[in-house]
Amino acid sequence: MPQTENVQNSAMELDDTKDGKHSKKQSFSGIRDETLKLYYERLFPFGPMYRWLSYCNMVEGDDPLNEKDFFMRREFSFTLAGDIYIRYLTFKNLKEYKDAYLKRLPHKTDIGAVFNAPPKHHNAVSSFKPVEKELVFDIDMTDYDDVRTCCSGAKICPLCWKLMTVAIKVLDHALRNDFGFKHLLWVYSGRRGVHCWVCDDRARKLQDGGRAAVVQYLSAYTGGGAEKAQKVKLRDPIHPSLAQALEVVEPEFEQYCEEQGLLETQDRWTQILAMIPEAGIRQELDEQWRNSFRNTAAKIADIKKAIRKNISQTKFSKVRNTYEEIVLAHLYPRLDVNVSKGMNHLLKSPWSVHPKTGRVCVPIDPDKCEDFDPFAVPTIDDLIRDINSFSKDEGTTDSANLPDYQKTRMAPYVECFKKKFLQPLQTSIRARRREIATKFDMTF
Ligand SMILES: [Zn+2]
Repeated sequence: MPQTENVQNSAMELDDTKDGKHSKKQSFSGIRDETLKLYYERLFPFGPMYRWLSYCNMVEGDDPLNEKDFFMRREFSFTLAGDIYIRYLTFKNLKEYKDAYLKRLPHKTDIGAVFNAPPKHHNAVSSFKPVEKELVFDIDMTDYDDVRTCCSGAKICPLCWKLMTVAIKVLDHALRNDFGFKHLLWVYSGRRGVHCWVCDDRARKLQDGGRAAVVQYLSAYTGGGAEKAQKVKLRDPIHPSLAQALEVVEPEFEQYCEEQGLLETQDRWTQILAMIPEAGIRQELDEQWRNSFRNTAAKIADIKKAIRKNISQTKFSKVRNTYEEIVLAHLYPRLDVNVSKGMNHLLKSPWSVHPKTGRVCVPIDPDKCEDFDPFAVPTIDDLIRDINSFSKDEGTTDSANLPDYQKTRMAPYVECFKKKFLQPLQTSIRARRREIATKFDMTF
């Protein structure tokens, strides 16, 4: 093993830690080396991944704007069997990238920043520092435990997955419309959350301060403490970005409360009423609901009505935006701020296999995120079975030339990655380069 590699005996899920520190042990019991070998040999989309992470900077490229060493300056990390964690891995080209996976059979892989020198030389370069990285977001279902009754902790079900769907819609819209970003890659984390990689040039070049500012802008939900009232505080008038978010989440709120039974028992409705900063309204509604049966829709109508009444009768009403605050406190995306803030934070690679579930971290099409079913995402064992049964049942000469992923349930996810994300990204980089080349009279 080369001495430049940084090997630690403390593997963990970087994206599962709340503070970015390596604190959680991960056990890698489920996945066999032979299975990983087949997966890396025949299915992992190294080509598309390499094209993404190169951003049209090819080792063999010769246009004047091509940075030949770009991919080589990207940090990768592997978590191997036995909880061995290796940082600062560097690959020169597509072949080295794939060969390293095949040789080491990592159980988990993370992607870090692009540095000013190849990361394997990190000890030898005195000014070694990250120069760019995708702006990333991590949304984890465990952060929603106070508004879930169906599951808690690492568990998810179709009912609470709705929280992720809503979070994708809100964040995707804000990133595109408020920041003008175009190249967003959404990925299922393999278990209970989603990641977003913002790949526009502007986003990749953001320094830590700029990243923190974007995250702060997108953090209407401040969480913390048992007091629900503190979790979202809106100004009047409501910020246009949050007004837009409300248009997405408000229509979901009633059904979400109904499905989770959030207004069913006094215990639960007390938590929602606690967000109303007027004791009179809280008492009035509590009494009304204890004395006569009201279904969820009726209770939500009661809250709105009581708030409207207070606003119409009070000059400086404290409840002007309270209903909207309640809705956002339940359904606005809850971001893991530390993952987004630091350029040097590593995040699990798309197409990595989740060590606990065996599911592949596949892309999610944000335009069809309602249709995304985390339980339908194939496990690595499903994929190997798909290949085997394909060769048995459909292995004709015509299909012999099909790429292996097309013989498996991975096909639609790889197609989505290529068509919805990679192709538009490459087209825009090439167009931008042509623009610069024309301006400065460079020849390609
Ligand atoms: Zn659930």
